[in-house]
Amino acid sequence: MGITDFFRPVDAQFDGGESEGAQISPSPQTLEAVPVPDASGSDPNPSPPQDAREAWRPEREAREAFGALGGAPPSDVSRRRARGAAHDLQYDEWAQPKRGRNFVLREFREKTRGAGAPMAGCVVHFPAGLTPHVPQKITMSRILTALTKSQNALIESPTGTGKSLALLCSALAWQETKRAEVKVANERVAERNAAKTLAFEEACARRRHARVAQKAKDSKDSSEMDSTIGRSREAVLPASDDGAGARADAALARELDEALAEREKENEKVSFTLGRPDGLVVPKLADPDDDVSVHVIKNEPHLSDSVPEREPFASEFAPIAPPALERPQSVPKIYLCSRTHSQLHQLMRELKRTPYAPRYAVLGSRKQYCPIGKNDEECAELTKNKNRGETACGWYNKKDAVVEELRRARVWDMEDLDTVAKSHLGCQYYAMRALHKNAELILCPYNYVFDENIRAALEIDLTGAAVIIDEGHNVEDVCRDGASMEISVTELEDTASQLGSVAKFLDDADVAARLMRPLKDWVNRSLAESSSHASKSSKSSFKRFNGFSGPVEAAHGEALWKGDDVATAIARALAPRTLAGSREKKSGGARGDASAAVALARSIVADASRVTAFDGALVREISQNGNTFGLNAITTCHRVCAALLAALDAPAEFAACVSADLSRAGETDQKTSSTSFGAGDREKEKTEKNAAGLALWCLRPAVSFRPVAAAARCVVVTSGTLSPMGSLEGELGVSFPVKVEAPHVVPSRQIHVEASDVLGDFTAKAQDADGTPRALGQFLLRYLSRNVIPGGVLVFLPKYSLIRRVIERWRDDGTLAAIEKHKTVVWEEPGAQTLTPTLETFRRSIDSGDKKGGVFLAVYRGKVSEGLDFKDANARAVFCVGIPFPAVGDVKVRLKKEYNSSAYARSERMLPGGDWYAHQAFRAYNQALGRCVRHLHDYAAIFLVDARFARHADADRNKSMVSKWMRHLVRVFASPRESVGTLEEFFRGLEADPPGGGGAGGEPAGG
Ligand code: SF4
Repeated sequence: MGITDFFRPVDAQFDGGESEGAQISPSPQTLEAVPVPDASGSDPNPSPPQDAREAWRPEREAREAFGALGGAPPSDVSRRRARGAAHDLQYDEWAQPKRGRNFVLREFREKTRGAGAPMAGCVVHFPAGLTPHVPQKITMSRILTALTKSQNALIESPTGTGKSLALLCSALAWQETKRAEVKVANERVAERNAAKTLAFEEACARRRHARVAQKAKDSKDSSEMDSTIGRSREAVLPASDDGAGARADAALARELDEALAEREKENEKVSFTLGRPDGLVVPKLADPDDDVSVHVIKNEPHLSDSVPEREPFASEFAPIAPPALERPQSVPKIYLCSRTHSQLHQLMRELKRTPYAPRYAVLGSRKQYCPIGKNDEECAELTKNKNRGETACGWYNKKDAVVEELRRARVWDMEDLDTVAKSHLGCQYYAMRALHKNAELILCPYNYVFDENIRAALEIDLTGAAVIIDEGHNVEDVCRDGASMEISVTELEDTASQLGSVAKFLDDADVAARLMRPLKDWVNRSLAESSSHASKSSKSSFKRFNGFSGPVEAAHGEALWKGDDVATAIARALAPRTLAGSREKKSGGARGDASAAVALARSIVADASRVTAFDGALVREISQNGNTFGLNAITTCHRVCAALLAALDAPAEFAACVSADLSRAGETDQKTSSTSFGAGDREKEKTEKNAAGLALWCLRPAVSFRPVAAAARCVVVTSGTLSPMGSLEGELGVSFPVKVEAPHVVPSRQIHVEASDVLGDFTAKAQDADGTPRALGQFLLRYLSRNVIPGGVLVFLPKYSLIRRVIERWRDDGTLAAIEKHKTVVWEEPGAQTLTPTLETFRRSIDSGDKKGGVFLAVYRGKVSEGLDFKDANARAVFCVGIPFPAVGDVKVRLKKEYNSSAYARSERMLPGGDWYAHQAFRAYNQALGRCVRHLHDYAAIFLVDARFARHADADRNKSMVSKWMRHLVRVFASPRESVGTLEEFFRGLEADPPGGGGAGGEPAGG
């Protein structure tokens, strides 16, 4: 940098390319106002405008720092020092942000803390004025136990008990305690490292001194060397503080080296004594392992008698190995995960209430964050050329302003993030990526943690981190999905073709192409074989739909493999010759020994996985020139490799299916059902994917969960519905030493629970019965026509197709009009597009008051039943119609039942298939009924609309499966009149004496 550069505004000097951090670029107006100094360095404008003074200040102070104001050009050392001063000033400006920056959030101010409660070695602070309830205390103490002892935990706490706040306060209190411990530990580390460095520098200096002394001793021209030695003594002293001293040091070092080289030439056969030269004093340190002398001795074989005479010469002049410095510790990160982003928003709102202010980031996809709706490829194209941090995307270029504002505010939620991004026109996605680098608390959906590919793409490192899963009742599904993979033939063909093109100029891509090409060919072959087989035996191919007992078979036009056959099928795709050879060798055996072929297939996949890794050389080579071609193919190949490797390593835990229609792979005609396990969010995906392809289904969540538990310090899973915990432990494949089921806080007088047999056993057959919609309408009108229920009513049904049929029938027979006289009717549809307007209509109906609320028809396992909070008037009644057993016709469900009933699964303490099936149903059921009664002063009526809860042989067993906090409150009434009367009384009593209004009392519902 020349002198002209130095006098550029300080911000411009330090604007070195793309920076994720504190990069402040002066605005054009500010630059215009900055006075340009003349040659003497004096200020040409004695009273510049305020902005100009701000921009000028760092430079002037920098010049003052090296004392060159108006004087001669500064020396190199002075200039460096001045740069340091200017950099500090720039940092100060960062900490006290630029005047003129248009901030929209309030600057952070420390919150007042109440007296903390000591728990498990930490002091937990709650928001001022709040006292934790019993369930919150239980939750906090269990979480702290898990975190401090690094033990996995399962914590069930009913909805409405303040679980999120308890979870945040305890986890952040633990992190605060760790931060203080780490600070003290790091001060000690810094002291030890400083001592080691000093000892090393002293040893080096003394060695240098000794070396020169030795040279002087051997020199023919003693007077010249004496002079050199005299100067060399200065060299071992600490360098002087001014530039002249540093230059003298450098010159002396040069002279000494030259003298040494000259001397070596003159006296090639010089020999040194085996002892240490005079002057080499090794400092004594307390820890022998950290002792500099150990390093010196280890690297100085001349101290051994057995070393040849010439050796000391080389070793004496060899550099001393630098000491091994200790790494400072870092504060353990907390990954706080929930199922959906709307649940994360709720967590952030709670975070704002706590007295803690950790550094945090909320991870999301481009799809979710990008304000201009670009996908990954379009974004990569826009941001590929970075000219001093500037790209073709204006939002990207202003991401630092978003980061700066969020750092200044410290505590913010998603609404704040949105406001800030819009105000600065900055990219939220890259702002979050920047904050993630130094974040101590990371919030993200939990599939980000359990999906290896997402972890790699977002640089999520779980090593030593605490992972807390909130709303973890779906953790099994998410883990299974994380290890599963579906890919269409078109995707396989595109990927293979792109990799082939990249391989023409990058050899590594050929390794990946060699996997994708045969895989694609094998899928096509299998599809052709299965369709020809299906046409020959069309009757037998439908066997699985006719009888549901016995082993699962492939459907019409599909090929299915399970157990060890999964590995053999992959070997058939990737190592067909080896597999054929194995079979030939084995005479008489039908299957042959496929282990060699499987091993070969594994090595092919492992090689492809290595070259397509996100941080691998291939990705670097492509992207370093700003290219994006081939990156998608590499990402797809890596995703395929991850699933294939997992399947090859544990084939018993996978099933493979080649299907002519992936959207219906393994399904019966219940495409629109929400009762497939792991359905919910995948409804939309399914309707979009109608292509032929390959599916690898993971049958055990442990495949994804175990690596996370192994890397992390501990995994804490919390939810309102985790029971039965033994089953969850077996499915996740790790032990959970900490387990607790916290009670509810709501008094029993605020909950009315009724089992009704009005619709009989609401089985799949009953759901399809012609009279069902009408019977359901009449049942609801029993309460709605008399305006017994105030506010909102939620009605949960097993599948979308039933909701559609009910609405159509109600329209035809006038039921809809009859209900709408009392409440607005809305219903849930597959996919997320219509949910927001539907919710708005429903909430408006609650707030307006003219129709006295609304009725919301929704499915189990949908967004309404699992992700949303309907507190107070939003849900004064919940009708849970039927029991949401997973669809028996879904081959994935049947495969899972079959797997769980195997001897291997039993040895792993997993629930037998039938029990697993029932627990899946009741977990979804309990989630739905938990939408109401969300806090201490909330109240609602819950209806279990299925004869299997009322007068039925299995009623007690079924009731024992509903949430513990309400199962003892279930009542069955003899007549509709009694039911309506009791409900009227329930609501009248609560309206006359509202909870929290002075008269609320009674025992907690959970006992
Ligand atoms: S940089 Fe941000 S705003 Fe620009 S395209 Fe990418 S995600 Fe969208």
